Amino acid sequence: MRVVAPDVHQLTGFPPNQINVYLVGDVLVDSGTASARRRVLRQLEGATLSAHVVTHAHPDHFGASHAICTTRGIPLWAGAHDVTAIETGAMQVPASPVAGALSRMPPPPAHPVDRALREGDEVAGFTVLEVPGHTPGHIALWREADRVLLCGDVFFHLGRVTKPPDFLTLDPERNRRSMQRLRALRPDLVLFGHGAPARRPVTHRHR
Ligand SMILES: [Zn+2]
Repeated sequence: MRVVAPDVHQLTGFPPNQINVYLVGDVLVDSGTASARRRVLRQLEGATLSAHVVTHAHPDHFGASHAICTTRGIPLWAGAHDVTAIETGAMQVPASPVAGALSRMPPPPAHPVDRALREGDEVAGFTVLEVPGHTPGHIALWREADRVLLCGDVFFHLGRVTKPPDFLTLDPERNRRSMQRLRALRPDLVLFGHGAPARRPVTHRHR
């Protein structure tokens, strides 16, 4: 893993930056797919962990969460409105042929959520922001002191900064409002669920 901001590490993924996992202080943010569990656990060897936060209940963000929480004996925290999806492994995407295909894949191992996060909660020096749309309980983490934002999938940064694909977003209009809210924060550094970290003003230019 590498340092991307003070007290924030990005774990090494394969391919790089495609599906991101971060270590923020002693809190693991997202876990990748179920098949990433060994790679993630290996990188966390020797690291102190107190909790695991999931930005939203999609299988490429909490796929390895059950294995990691069980192996490391840490609690799972997630946005209040995504708790049920994580605890059941339910797939939260709009009805479409893609959703049909996804729903036939094995769901990520479900895991009990120990703490439902709400707007304004503090996690490892970051503030929880409720930014629904992509999923109902999607959260972002914001550190105003140095304007670092972990935005989850509110934005994608694959090539350029965009909205997430509509076919993976339960309520695109609501996500658009969450995008506006995060842009208005004027972050200096944005850390994405998908894509490389981006320095200001990337999120202000694009829509
Ligand atoms: Zn997602």
